[in-house]
Amino acid sequence: MSKTVIIFFGPPGSGKGTQAELLVKKTGWKKISTGDLLRFEVAAGTKLGKLANKYLGKGKLVPDRLLIDLVDKGLRGRARGFIFDGYPRNLKQLKDLLLMFKKRIKLSDPVYAFLVAVSDAEVKQRLGERRSCACGAVYHLKYNPPINDGICDICGKKLFTRNDDKPKVIAHRLKVYHQQGKPIIDYWQKQGKLIGINGEQPIAKIHEEIMARLKELKLI
Ligand code: AMP
Repeated sequence: MSKTVIIFFGPPGSGKGTQAELLVKKTGWKKISTGDLLRFEVAAGTKLGKLANKYLGKGKLVPDRLLIDLVDKGLRGRARGFIFDGYPRNLKQLKDLLLMFKKRIKLSDPVYAFLVAVSDAEVKQRLGERRSCACGAVYHLKYNPPINDGICDICGKKLFTRNDDKPKVIAHRLKVYHQQGKPIIDYWQKQGKLIGINGEQPIAKIHEEIMARLKELKLI
């Protein structure tokens, strides 16, 4: 049976995590979000979590080698498809992932990268208004507010602003995204596997476009 791999790519705050989650709900495919996986490790106080926490709070990328096992574990199992959010983020990670694909999926399995495009100005405005929950849910005060102020709709816990959504950290994350993300975009483009989506539209509209593209490609 073939497995589909969809990789969401885009600047921080582009909404790629939200789109990945919507697609997971529609398809039942497995989400591999390195940010979520790392935050889980931090919350659980594991050895990896303690190491990763030094980077997470500063908005710095966690060393590539710490992510290989985490991602490879995610790729095991019988899921019909995988939805990546936040990985790969640099050329080394892309190379690591391509090696994992050799082991875990077939050469003929469809792999596509969705680039959710959003300007830097929009990113800065958006991330300042992002609120997160320990359960993994993410809200936006304007575009996707919780029903009750400051409280997660799903689990009822208090929402918080992630350290890496603070202005100085956002500027740094954007710089890193532009420097390290370009070779990844170039790679998928050369492969004819890059699908650009305008991320400056309502969440539901972006999701519709993604679904339409997947239907065109006969992946759903
Ligand atoms: P995210 O939820 O994708 O915005 O990720 C939150 C934080 O987790 C990032 O700022 C990094 O510190 C770390 N992280 C997530 N994914 C990666 C990755 N692919 N490479 C390195 N660090 C990552």
